[in-house]
Amino acid sequence: MKQLWPRGRTHIAAVIGYPIEHSVSPQMQNAAFVDLGIDWCYVPFSVHPDNLPEAVQGMVALGIKGFNATIPHKQALLSLVDELTPAARAIGAVNTVAIRPEGLLGHNTDAEGFWAALLEAGYIPGKRRALVLGAGGASRAIVYALLSQGYQVRIANRTTARAEELAETMRSVNSQVSVEAIPLATETLDSASKGVDLIVHCTSMGMHPKEGTTVWPEDLAFPTEAFLFDLVYNPTETRLMQQARSVGAQVSNGLGMLVHQGAAAFELWTGRRPNVKRMYEACCSAMEAAK
Ligand code: NAP
Repeated sequence: MKQLWPRGRTHIAAVIGYPIEHSVSPQMQNAAFVDLGIDWCYVPFSVHPDNLPEAVQGMVALGIKGFNATIPHKQALLSLVDELTPAARAIGAVNTVAIRPEGLLGHNTDAEGFWAALLEAGYIPGKRRALVLGAGGASRAIVYALLSQGYQVRIANRTTARAEELAETMRSVNSQVSVEAIPLATETLDSASKGVDLIVHCTSMGMHPKEGTTVWPEDLAFPTEAFLFDLVYNPTETRLMQQARSVGAQVSNGLGMLVHQGAAAFELWTGRRPNVKRMYEACCSAMEAAK
């Protein structure tokens, strides 16, 4: 495969975060540019939150075509773009910006990335009843995606007030279905998991460096009928995934969501569909190299 190096006419895309060192997006996006043979390059920038407005203005001045944003910039970008997509507005976070002559478009590709990854993992929508574990930044995109797809959603979170707040904000996404908050406790999980066909894990439990920890009580059997989508991808197999596998439930980790949210951003900037398989391979090699 031919490696392309940036030149005067190369289109530049970027990712900003603080920190940014851990991001595998540069390897993933650059592999997809090389695969298509298009003259693009993706560059990571560590941007302190105090410098975000100047960094955005700087990217416009430098002719950068678009950028991704990760922690802690996703909310602050809402007020720094000219236009928001309905997804970014409802989720309350921007993870992708397209810099266009007419202005900056703020989008959020996490919801579509999640849905694409879920279907790719073999999940077949059934009763459309889901249980979401966690109510942080990531679960906002998941709840938005599920409500948009007509799911009845229950959100269980350690801090119940945060789940209630999320349910309240998301209620307007789809008035045809219900969204409610429940405490993250054995009894409530037991009753809430009956009859659900999808459980989405959105907490940081089980994620590196908390390998081996799980949000699901060890003394509560995971529901056999439910498909588990775990947003965690490092490690690739979490304790929660093992709990679900042990009762024969179908499971997926969150790598597909990372890849598909990146693929959606790639398409927004370039107008081309990337080679998703190549993006997976690049992520896996980058994560392996980081060990
Ligand atoms: P966040 O905003 O910091 O939220 C963290 C969530 O974890 C909150 O719901 C928090 O509950 C819960 N939590 C933390 N420690 C807990 C504990 N000991 N027991 C029970 N709950 C606990 O983080 P985030 O950005 O939403 O990310 C959540 C996870 O999703 C991370 O593992 C992240 O890597 C993953 N993620 C994956 C993708 C992907 O593309 N696959 C994208 C984004 C995020 P409280 O509200 O009670 O604190």
